[in-house]
Amino acid sequence: MDYKKHIKIVQDWPKKGIKFKDITPLMDNGKVFKSAIDDIVAYAKEKKADVIVGPEARGFIIGCPVSYALEVGFVPVRKEGKLPREVIKVSYGLEYGENVLTIHKDAIKPGQRVLITDDLLATGGTIEATIKLVEELGGIVVGCAFLIELAYLNGMDKLKDYDVMALMQYK
Ligand code: 5GP
Repeated sequence: MDYKKHIKIVQDWPKKGIKFKDITPLMDNGKVFKSAIDDIVAYAKEKKADVIVGPEARGFIIGCPVSYALEVGFVPVRKEGKLPREVIKVSYGLEYGENVLTIHKDAIKPGQRVLITDDLLATGGTIEATIKLVEELGGIVVGCAFLIELAYLNGMDKLKDYDVMALMQYK
């Protein structure tokens, strides 16, 4: 399927110079959204994932329907202060400042096969931080799945040791 025609590119949002890839038109179209999720479900099956992990917020939009289809759990990775029980955390650098991501300490069992989902791979900072959290809890990252990879930001460099799939690439 030609998914790209369902992505709207928004010039200068959220900042001047950024060409934001808006995935909401893809999600608005039930058939196209289902097809994209089905493609990721097929990948998750191939990788024998037994839990899905997604960073807030758009990682939830992709990860939850995948977990539902496979009847495996979904584990949220959230910004600091959002999860109610004991967490582990990791911080990573942004262009300006830093971000902290957290996961419940008991969310992943050692040896679990984890698929990480997000809508988009840009610099790879979010996914690298998510991988750190999963691995600290003993999970095995069997794959990372995205709707979109922004190849020009070289996020793949941070994911060299992992299996990665993206339904669309922008060069
Ligand atoms: P990274 O950490 O790889 O630099 O950035 C990826 C994160 O930022 C993802 O969680 C994604 O949701 C968000 N993001 C960055 N740029 C875009 C964009 O152009 N479109 C969308 N939909 N999300 C973006």
